[in-house]
Amino acid sequence: MPSDWSFVSVDMELTNQCGSECLMCPRESISRPKGMMPEDVFNIVSDKLIREESLITFSGMGDPLSHPNVFEWISEIRNKGCDVGVVVNPEALNESISQKLVESHPNSITVSFPSIQRDVFEKLCHMVPYEDALKRTLELANLSRGKVGLRVAGITTEISSDELRAFVRFWKERNIKADMTVCHGRGGNLKNPEIYKLKTFGLDSGSCGLFQFHTFVTWEAEVLACCHDLTGATRIGNLIDDDISVIAERKQDILKSTMPFHLCQQCDEPLRLYSLSQGPPPKNRKERTEFFRSISYDSLS
Ligand code: SF4
Ligand code: SF4
Repeated sequence: MPSDWSFVSVDMELTNQCGSECLMCPRESISRPKGMMPEDVFNIVSDKLIREESLITFSGMGDPLSHPNVFEWISEIRNKGCDVGVVVNPEALNESISQKLVESHPNSITVSFPSIQRDVFEKLCHMVPYEDALKRTLELANLSRGKVGLRVAGITTEISSDELRAFVRFWKERNIKADMTVCHGRGGNLKNPEIYKLKTFGLDSGSCGLFQFHTFVTWEAEVLACCHDLTGATRIGNLIDDDISVIAERKQDILKSTMPFHLCQQCDEPLRLYSLSQGPPPKNRKERTEFFRSISYDSLS
């Protein structure tokens, strides 16, 4: 298990390209280079993270399923004894892709499904009809049953603020775990008052809880403060050249004083409010699972 909190959980951006145009996604503001993680970059970065026993998640501001190596790389990480999850959106699914995804055997699949209200869903994700998205999600859930843990993640917005109970019940009736998180502004990048209003932002404590236990790596192996950095301005290092211990030390130094990034001053990401852990990082998978279960989004938002 990681010797430092920074590498307990790592989001790996296989790509920052995506064919969808979700209303709650400020992808149009990405100004850092766009592309797909090359194989040599994956090999170097994943070797380091596997040695560290980080929990790797293929996610970020792009569609991981659009990467041609995604299934092979999930299997590779699992075969080397490490844990990997993937975040997918229904538009990217079809029967063949879902089959390959389940066969690659990730530890977990999270399906982004913003709302169970047809009009809200189609407003937020206008490129896929609600019925199709639901059919594809249920198909993936059926294929995953007994093989891969699957969860549906919704999002509460200004047009769906009271949906939580109905959302969880809807998926529970279909024997699927689900939760919702509040739509946030991704470091001030989301500007759409129809679905999102900035309420509380910034860091009272000066430190970001998410930054402590989580690291974000771009498709070019750049380590940024978090996935909300669409410009690359919060660069901490690069996992091709820098060892994990070097990045961890830089992150520890940053946490000793107020977060130095402009992005953080406009941030309303709920997990930023998580109090920094004072003890050592989880020693095994059980402790890691307990740690993530202990984080209550409700109390943070
Ligand atoms: S699927 Fe994800 S990355 Fe793509 S536009 Fe929607 S929210 Fe953004
Ligand atoms: S405060 Fe927000 S923008 Fe800054 S590192 Fe944390 S999550 Fe990212």
